[in-house]
Amino acid sequence: MFCYHCQEAKKNIACDTAGICGKKSDISSLHDLLTYSLKGLSYYAHQADELNLSDANINQFTARALYSMLTNVNFDAAIFVQLISETIQRREFLKRQLLTHGAKFKQLLPEETLWHYASIDVAEFTKKGESVGVMPEEEMSEEIADIHAAREMLVYALKGLGALIEHIQVLEPVAAEHYAFIHKGLAFTLEPEVDLESLLALNFDCGQQAIALMACLEKANTQRFGEPEPTKVHLEPSDRPGVIVTGHDFQDLHDLLEQSAGTGVDIYTHDEMLVAHSYPVFKKYFNLVANYGGAWQDQKTQFGKFKGPVLVTSNSLQQPKKGYIDMTYTSGMVGWTGLKHIDNRRPHEAKDFSAIIEQAKQCPAPDTLNTGTVITGYGRQVLLSLVEPIAALFASDSLQHIVVLAGYDGRHKERKYYTELVQALPSDSLIITAGDTKYRFNQLDLGEIEGIPRLLDVGQAHDFHIILDFLKALQEEMDVSDINELPVSFNLAWYEQQSLLMMLALFKQGLKNVIIGPTLPPFFSAGILKQLTDELSVQGISTVEQDIAAMLGIELALEPEAEAEITAKESA
Ligand code: SF4
Repeated sequence: MFCYHCQEAKKNIACDTAGICGKKSDISSLHDLLTYSLKGLSYYAHQADELNLSDANINQFTARALYSMLTNVNFDAAIFVQLISETIQRREFLKRQLLTHGAKFKQLLPEETLWHYASIDVAEFTKKGESVGVMPEEEMSEEIADIHAAREMLVYALKGLGALIEHIQVLEPVAAEHYAFIHKGLAFTLEPEVDLESLLALNFDCGQQAIALMACLEKANTQRFGEPEPTKVHLEPSDRPGVIVTGHDFQDLHDLLEQSAGTGVDIYTHDEMLVAHSYPVFKKYFNLVANYGGAWQDQKTQFGKFKGPVLVTSNSLQQPKKGYIDMTYTSGMVGWTGLKHIDNRRPHEAKDFSAIIEQAKQCPAPDTLNTGTVITGYGRQVLLSLVEPIAALFASDSLQHIVVLAGYDGRHKERKYYTELVQALPSDSLIITAGDTKYRFNQLDLGEIEGIPRLLDVGQAHDFHIILDFLKALQEEMDVSDINELPVSFNLAWYEQQSLLMMLALFKQGLKNVIIGPTLPPFFSAGILKQLTDELSVQGISTVEQDIAAMLGIELALEPEAEAEITAKESA
């Protein structure tokens, strides 16, 4: 096993015996074999796209299969055995289609396009997966290590794109060009003669694709659920039993709210689902009562205290603990061996959540973890309406700087940096956030600047593109020719493949001085990091004081201990 997909890779190198996320070595091997098989499928699908022979079912399947391997989505060996065998069958179907239409293949085909199982068997698949996994880079020359790392990064970015597409395709059709990009990217990983430049360029293109897909997802969501508006969300539970909904699938939340209304069961959002409270359609449900708990990594200590069922609709699943395992349900592509899974919806029908609602009715009310409220829902319309007032604040010197502090939360204790950073930012600065890193600071009272809250929570990581659109509008309003000259800094908290897409989107747009933490991705090899540093001045987090000085161009008065800490870090 060698996995360095995410920010929690062991020692920031790789998980090599079992994943910190709960991924065991057998599941890791099945992921590796599914990736290998999908590369073979995409090799032909890319040719099919060029000949106008693309297959909608294969396209949707590819995105779904990529998404299944995102960190914290699926840990069920049976699902991967099914996905791998289906990939091979679809590949062979596509190959026959291409031959029927006169396509010619190279004589020397990559082995990913040829491998076929002897039987559909978990042991055979696991063994094969062990031989096609990621290679540790320490055994390679620096140049080869850079190419290898950039190829892997491309695979992770494509997995992130697969996630975005799957979130859209459960709501509405996705344009063929997005699937074609995925096939092109996966096929490109099989090219033997590639240079770092072209691999990085394709990685950056993934960022651009992600922005386009986020916009499609936003459109699909707002057409169904309305335009988000700033909303105070309660954190204290009611005295009735409830169900927690975590993940991103608003349609699941909607179906559950419809079916639970009037049953005496309350519904709670969790983690990135928080922003649902700000959508007009969800506001109509009186039993959508509050948000429960902190970010995803706290689930093992918090879900047991909820005392009722948990519905996991997308990534962020951790191995459930004894206290709530019998009340945990997965849906969509999420899975863990032995957990109850909600069947997919049939065309024009809702999913059936009756089992969850019935179980919830037998449960006591949740324990209280938090009280008070948090505000979310600064979506497109509201944020764009703030362009003029914010430009005016800059003009009058009432506002000095905007820090975009977005991304995902995680377990590392170093992430207290994000709380301290927000606490230390001067009162004439604004913070715009998206994703769940906000749980590090969204309960702080940060006040306002002339009526505009200092913390503007746009919503999920998938809403990140709205921040970029806001900044473009602000650039125009302030008549600034280069976006890098705006008094704005990006500080990204990364965790998994979708936060990688955020970084790639910023790199593609040429945004400089992006700060990434709490650690730099382990697949930023020496050569990749040099290029990112030389061309875009990308940097890892330092101390709060140093990063504020770098972002805002101001010095903070340091306490002696903080000064000593910086000196120690610098000499290290
Ligand atoms: S996804 Fe992250 S935590 Fe899980 S095995 Fe890979 S690197 Fe480790």
